[in-house]
Amino acid sequence: MNTGSESEKEGVIKFQYEWVKAEPPSRVSVAELELLRNTLYRMKFIGVDETGLGFGNVSRRNLKKENKNEFIITGSQTGGLPALFAKDYCRIVDYDYDRFWVKSEGQIKPSSESLTHAALYDTDPEIAWIIHIHNLKLWDFMIQNQYPETGNISYGTRELALEVKKLHQSGGFQKGNFLAMTGHTSGIITFGKTSKEALSYVYALMKDCGML
Ligand SMILES: [Zn+2]
Repeated sequence: MNTGSESEKEGVIKFQYEWVKAEPPSRVSVAELELLRNTLYRMKFIGVDETGLGFGNVSRRNLKKENKNEFIITGSQTGGLPALFAKDYCRIVDYDYDRFWVKSEGQIKPSSESLTHAALYDTDPEIAWIIHIHNLKLWDFMIQNQYPETGNISYGTRELALEVKKLHQSGGFQKGNFLAMTGHTSGIITFGKTSKEALSYVYALMKDCGML
């Protein structure tokens, strides 16, 4: 078992993880995730920034598991890789917002954005696929046009989970399943019951913004 913590860019929040080195998720369970990720990578919504830091990640709920909150997510710092293998994905099997902590299993460290995904899965049992991308143009467009946004809440915190829940209950996602992460420049989330649905909201945003 490995434990560790990682400072976010802002240097305020420390992401804590407990990483159990185990078999990676099966090839079958990551196949569709990889197709989705590859599409986003080719569109440059997942990649590596000018400072060499990877950005963007995708996840899916592990519906076959008894623990319905378990999900599979791309590993830490995989953004720059054109193609991923099963070993580049990991399972998030437990988490705690108060401790800003996740427990993961696999061959790779969990993404520091895993708790943001967890918050959304907690919000609605129907959400089964989540995309987190970075694009400044889309993000600016969303902020300027009153698309759902998180406000200046640090991502992956309990406050964020509650805010997303509130948005969900007050019909904040009527326009579509997308969310701009206000305090996380250029960060956007889309989600859905299927990978197609989650991706369709990326296209919807691009269309609204005039990129398509
Ligand atoms: Zn991000």
